[in-house]
Amino acid sequence: MRHEFQTISSEQTKKLGQLLAQELHGGEIICLSGDLGAGKTTFTQGLLKGLKIKGPYTSPTFAILKQYNVSSRKYNAKSIIHNTKYIIHDVYHIDAYRINSKDLLELGFADFANNANSITIIEWPEKVKKLIPTDALWIKFEWLSDKERTITLSIKKEH
Ligand code: ADP
Ligand code: MG
Repeated sequence: MRHEFQTISSEQTKKLGQLLAQELHGGEIICLSGDLGAGKTTFTQGLLKGLKIKGPYTSPTFAILKQYNVSSRKYNAKSIIHNTKYIIHDVYHIDAYRINSKDLLELGFADFANNANSITIIEWPEKVKKLIPTDALWIKFEWLSDKERTITLSIKKEH
């Protein structure tokens, strides 16, 4: 399944991330691919906001991995109404640009990526491709002009 969007500002890209947050249940692995400056981190900021995680959201570029706790009762309460098993406790945001699969495993990837209460977001997923499960959500960011981006979501398998 593929969905293609075009955004004409970083705010719109953030909004798209915020909308995606409403669809997440926990356990998702979200791969953000695209060149430097394409909007991967901008989109993630919207996604984190949509999960009611308080900012500031610093880029994980220097840290490689950033972990956020989803502490808001508001968000979890909403999830509980839908289905008690859908509760997101943590979000892991990884910038894999300067690492490989072995490094990512050392950061505990196997634990958090398999946790049904965590969301894992990976920039530069190609660098750690062999660790990415086939049911991951892939989002491709393409630079069209200074302010325009094409953002394509693809899901290989329905959960
Ligand atoms: P990446 O993480 O892919 O390297 P960033 O999100 O860090 O990219 O940077 C994207 C840059 O492009 C930001 O400076 C942002 O303000 C700018 N920008 C301009 N238009 C858009 C848009 N439509 N979507 C996302 N970012 C945009
Ligand atoms: Mg980035």
